[in-house]
Amino acid sequence: MKAHDGMYIDGAWRPAAGTDTTEVVNPADEQVIGRVPAGTAEDVDAAVQAARAALPGWAATSPAERGAVIGALRDALAARREEIAETVTAELGSPLPFSQRVHADLPVAVAGSYAELAATYAFEEKVGNSTVHLEPIGVVGAITPWNYPLHQIVAKVAPALAAGCTVVLKPAEDTPLVAQLFAEAADEAGVPAGVFNLVTGLGPVAGQALAAHDDVDLVSFTGSTAVGRSIGATAGGALKKVALELGGKSANVILPSADLAKAVNVGVANVMSNSGQTCSAWTRMLVHTSQYEQAVELAAEVAAKYGERIGPLVNAKQRERVRSYIEKGVAEGARLVTGGPESPREQGYFVSPTVFADVTPGMTIAQEEIFGPVLSILRYEDEEDALRIANGTVYGLGGAVWAGEEAEAVAFARRMDTGQVDINGGRFNPRAPFGGYKQSGVGRELGAHGLAEYLQTKSLQF
Ligand code: NAD
Repeated sequence: MKAHDGMYIDGAWRPAAGTDTTEVVNPADEQVIGRVPAGTAEDVDAAVQAARAALPGWAATSPAERGAVIGALRDALAARREEIAETVTAELGSPLPFSQRVHADLPVAVAGSYAELAATYAFEEKVGNSTVHLEPIGVVGAITPWNYPLHQIVAKVAPALAAGCTVVLKPAEDTPLVAQLFAEAADEAGVPAGVFNLVTGLGPVAGQALAAHDDVDLVSFTGSTAVGRSIGATAGGALKKVALELGGKSANVILPSADLAKAVNVGVANVMSNSGQTCSAWTRMLVHTSQYEQAVELAAEVAAKYGERIGPLVNAKQRERVRSYIEKGVAEGARLVTGGPESPREQGYFVSPTVFADVTPGMTIAQEEIFGPVLSILRYEDEEDALRIANGTVYGLGGAVWAGEEAEAVAFARRMDTGQVDINGGRFNPRAPFGGYKQSGVGRELGAHGLAEYLQTKSLQF
């Protein structure tokens, strides 16, 4: 795989300050496929300075001009579809068709939405004797994870650019190659020097330096709740704005009037997708006691079919983590109906699609984010019981409700403490706000709400 040996700072690839590198490993065969520089605080500082210097010029462009640049960025990403898909498959391990359809195409849709929003968003409004101006918040430090590596970059950089902010990105150490491709696309699209900057490297070094940098105005982070908490504390200490997109333990609530087979089929697919490495995955399936055994049987059957189709987990550490959760599920008395902790292949960080039945709300596998292809099926007695279970975790990111009538599902969804709910299998909408209630995060990404995160408000009185 092609890898740059420098950082993209101030419109050019520059040598890193230090000589350390990190390895990029293909999780399907455990081979090293590339090496990128491990950034230090010095690299971060150079990138933040470039972003600061570029800010006045970029903030002064018209929304239409910014929209045009983001449109060119969208086109540059679309033109690289195959290269992006192959790169994500190599560093994340997802099967190529999924990389094409999701990892490559979704960011193009998101960039397209911000090309349009930049040009049409109401950056000014009139309120009585005042004009209200929505102005860029400043220099953004973006820290992204590996699970949807390009989507999460675009979901931060595109709205930041649309708002008139400049950005320093620190991508996940497991998936830096697609971040380098993004920098190439930004360069090709004519994003002015310093408006977008890339520093690769380790979280506790480069990520920490970016989150703590005095000249960063907003830190936007997606990843684990533990790191999010520490970034929130650092940013809070400096009275810096922060946007956090963290973990989840989303409930898929199947009401008795629903089409059970469809709900179970789509529900299992949702959990196994991207090998379970999706923060909003419906990892808890809630089924009425009268339909419980039927749902368990079907879910096991559907999950087993994913055996040959899902990719590995991103790295050995994640595989060990997921295995230990599976072992904990068994130890705490859940019934393993398919899958298990054993590796299905000699090579690669694979975990078999796993389904647990007889999971009770207090079990570890019903409470903690596993981030692997593991489904927990819980039983409920009535609707109030289902609601109590659905809302009974520290998280609130995604979710689903299935019912015979849409109105019944909507009524239930409105009572769920979560940021997004799919009604009877509703499709993902890249323009709808995405983000968490409770410990799943602070702020929203995507669409107009995602753009608003990068703005601050000034009013002028006349
Ligand atoms: P992580 O939170 O450690 O990494 C996410 C990003 O934060 C990476 O770019 C990383 O380099 C950076 N980072 C790490 N430590 C940092 C620090 N101290 N300061 C600043 N930046 C830092 O996530 P992980 O270890 O890769 O994954 C662990 C778990 O996190 C997963 O099992 C899953 O539960 C969760 N996760 C959630 C999401 C999500 O989309 N919400 C994404 C990835 C992982």
